[in-house]
Amino acid sequence: MAQILAPSPQWQMRIPKCSVDASPLTSKMWSPLVLKQNSSKGAVKTSAKFRVFALQSDGSTINRVEQLLNLDVTPYTDKIIAEYIWIGGSGTDVRSKSRTISKPVEHPSELPKWNYDGSSTGQAPGEDSEVILYPQAIFKDPFRGGNNILVICDTYTPAGEPIPTNKRHKAAQIFSDPKVVSEVPWFGIEQEYTLLQKDVNWPLGWPVGGYPGPQGPYYCGAGADKSFGRDISDAHYKACLYAGINISGTNGEVMPGQWEFQVGPSVGIEAGDHIWCARYLLERITEQAGVVLSLDPKPIEGDWNGAGCHTNYSTKSMREDGGFEKIKKAILNLSLRHKEHISAYGEGNERRLTGKHETASINTFSWGVANRGCSIRVGRDTEKNGKGYLEDRRPASNMDPYVVTGLLAETTILWEPTLEAEALAAQKLALKKGCDQTKTNSKAMASGVGKSAAFTLLILNCFLYFVVAALSGWAVNHGITKARETASQLTIPAHIFPIYFPVGNMATGFLIIFSLIAGVVGFVSSISSMLNVIQWNLPNLHSAAATSMITWLLTLLAMGVACKEIRLGRTESNLRTLETMLIILSGTQMFTTGAIHAGIEDLIAREEIIRGRL
Ligand code: ADP
Ligand code: MN
Ligand code: MN
Ligand code: MN
Repeated sequence: MAQILAPSPQWQMRIPKCSVDASPLTSKMWSPLVLKQNSSKGAVKTSAKFRVFALQSDGSTINRVEQLLNLDVTPYTDKIIAEYIWIGGSGTDVRSKSRTISKPVEHPSELPKWNYDGSSTGQAPGEDSEVILYPQAIFKDPFRGGNNILVICDTYTPAGEPIPTNKRHKAAQIFSDPKVVSEVPWFGIEQEYTLLQKDVNWPLGWPVGGYPGPQGPYYCGAGADKSFGRDISDAHYKACLYAGINISGTNGEVMPGQWEFQVGPSVGIEAGDHIWCARYLLERITEQAGVVLSLDPKPIEGDWNGAGCHTNYSTKSMREDGGFEKIKKAILNLSLRHKEHISAYGEGNERRLTGKHETASINTFSWGVANRGCSIRVGRDTEKNGKGYLEDRRPASNMDPYVVTGLLAETTILWEPTLEAEALAAQKLALKKGCDQTKTNSKAMASGVGKSAAFTLLILNCFLYFVVAALSGWAVNHGITKARETASQLTIPAHIFPIYFPVGNMATGFLIIFSLIAGVVGFVSSISSMLNVIQWNLPNLHSAAATSMITWLLTLLAMGVACKEIRLGRTESNLRTLETMLIILSGTQMFTTGAIHAGIEDLIAREEIIRGRL
């Protein structure tokens, strides 16, 4: 237990090269080097504070291994040690190996790719075992100090394909989607873990083969009979701060021997990188302490709390005024994809999410303000301020933060509910809450097709209105050219435009004017409505509904004149096309207007679902 280190921040300073013998293997080195440096430069003096305590070896009075572990090599070489870290075949094991880099680095792009034997980590077949490591994030190494670094990597085949256990790749894709980038997703992850006594695999502080007193006094407790493993939690806290991990706190948990640390708020992919690095540090510290780290979601059966990885989440619009509405919309989406999320939230989570011990049942989705028995909890402050964040309480302690953060962003920013998902929600509701809610839901379902229908109709209308505008534009042009010569033979007022028109019959002049207006307005309004429909929210749909209603009325007017023209008869083919188009358009534009109104009802119904059900 004695090997935990407490590096001083000064250790990070670069020290100018000394002129003394640079070879590390001189007799000088075996003298108390750290003490010797104390008497020279000030910067070097501070390095004596960085101490790693090695195990006492048999028959030695001065522990020379300890001196070497604390050796500051910066005065002698520019070279640094980079510990390449990656996730192994189980998806939860962290592996690492080290290599020398010629000089200190500040960005992962300065580091070379590397490889390892994937057949030894369950990640590649023996005959083609090479897996390639791509450096993705760097942290300062609290174990080696100096300019030495930890490197979080992800894993690829030699051909450059991410291997199946590389969950970072997909997450990075999601987090680089412009829509996700613009929402600046924040994550605060509460990593719970259990410390076990080595060899017996029984929680730290528990009598071997027996149980401590029931839960109650342990959560955030102090005292030798209530808190077990504080040194580890604290050493880890400092190691994280030193490394540059965005750790935000720690606490003792409800089950004795169980602890939690929080990382965040971190933006996007960073959340996953930081949690994985923090887990690695914890593995190294528990290794030194001779304690076993367990991320099992329910390490002890019975009346003992499990271990989770609550994920606090917000987007830019949730943090802004009116954000609570966005949070509720996100919760609706999360409820509709409950199954997908649960299957990605960690192995063995069904043993933890029982509906007891501050968890919700794994089979049902629920949410509530300040309620720890729900799948999603919203804090009192968030409700009061009308903006803030939500806490997804479902992830297990062994979840992959790349998977969980990526999925949260996907479901709440990129994903739109499908008809099937809504139907499912409606069914469940019918079972749970009776007819009132079901009605709302079936209404939402029926108009669920609204978006794609409205969009398709708008594309069609856009084309038809364009043709109408072009034809009537041609007719106007024709009329202007022909009017002078033909009208000169007529008596006043017969040639006064538009009653008289050089083609068609006496209704043609009116038709051309009305259809030109309907065509131009229809074309422009179809395009603007398409943009509105893509957004599919209430303000946009209201404006689309207004424009399409006006367009429809203009189309009806033109269609009315077209009918009159048809009744008068004797028109040429261009005009007949125009008439036909107007008649078709007065129908399709009506459907478009209908679909947009249905969309508005749909959205209102969804809000009712959120209010009534969630
Ligand atoms: P709990 O009350 O559930 O125990 P904790 O205090 O342990 O919560 O953890 C909350 C986490 O949420 C912290 O890591 C914190 O930084 C993070 N957090 C705070 N505000 C936000 C936010 N707006 N979006 C995402 N995470 C946040
Ligand atoms: Mn917490
Ligand atoms: Mn907790
Ligand atoms: Mn929590």
